[in-house]
Amino acid sequence: MSTLNESLAHELRPAPGGAALPMAAPLERPEARKAVNPPVAAPASPGLKRAEGRIPKGQGFIWWLIEKEKGRWMQLSSPLLFLVLFAACFWLSFRDAGQSLTMSLALVVQMYLHEQGHAFIFRRAGVRSQVWWLFPLGAVAAPINKEENAKSDLLPWWTIAWLLQAGVTVNVVLMGVGLWLQAVPIHWLAGFGEGLLYTGGMLAISNLLPVWQLDAGLLYHVIFSSLKEEDDGKVAWVTTGLMAAAVLAAFWSAGEWGFWQLLVAFITRLGWFVVLLLVAAGVWHRQAMDDPLHAASQQAMTRPQAVIHILWHIALLYLALRLVVGPLTPYII
Ligand SMILES: [Zn+2]
Repeated sequence: MSTLNESLAHELRPAPGGAALPMAAPLERPEARKAVNPPVAAPASPGLKRAEGRIPKGQGFIWWLIEKEKGRWMQLSSPLLFLVLFAACFWLSFRDAGQSLTMSLALVVQMYLHEQGHAFIFRRAGVRSQVWWLFPLGAVAAPINKEENAKSDLLPWWTIAWLLQAGVTVNVVLMGVGLWLQAVPIHWLAGFGEGLLYTGGMLAISNLLPVWQLDAGLLYHVIFSSLKEEDDGKVAWVTTGLMAAAVLAAFWSAGEWGFWQLLVAFITRLGWFVVLLLVAAGVWHRQAMDDPLHAASQQAMTRPQAVIHILWHIALLYLALRLVVGPLTPYII
């Protein structure tokens, strides 16, 4: 019978911006097979060759990439490559080398510490993990081997939910640091603070959308899997209501707008409607996809635990939007 963790494993994909979390990877990853099979006199990386033949897509691709890029040289140079790549992207809009580089540095820091957030929960749960740079995909926090990976599959979903929330929590905390740095009278540092604020907002808001294989998408998968069938619909309604309230409240409090201004801004900037729609659709999709049998699992969360995670997620959504919308107000309205 397929367990939730197996289905998580098949669903995990890298997120845009590099936030990916293959916490429950398929066991036939090359490294694991190498450990099980007696070592043969190896020409140039036999594990890799086998991997190329056998693992063409999806989650396996991340393990293939880890295998390919786990060398020390690649791990050291990847963050630098990202720095250059992002700086080039930022330059297209800023046309200022210094500012582009500062923003790029902030993004690399946000990406790396996001993954360290995941790794922190792995550590707390007694699973040995490592953060890998995977150029040009992003970075991932993953158990270091087959045994640790199997251990992570058995974690209570309460812990797995914290694992999924930890990355964005770090981003939002760093956004707070960025806000504080912005006021520092050192020009470069203030610019870096601004960078932390924007790039953190980018990573946080995208990963807070409860869709696809983003952190929050998997989070709501775990939440609805834990809940009993009769609670699912109610929780989905309350959650979408609270999310809409959080998004509106973030705009309202950040911009000191009146209701009509807010309404006009929403209508003229449909992008924010799309965010709201994605959030709502994501929650309902997760709810609809839920397998009622999962609630009987020993790993399932209790109802109060699920509520705590929902409230934590919505608080992060509010904070990330609130911190980003304030400075963006002139552009939005
Ligand atoms: Zn993440």
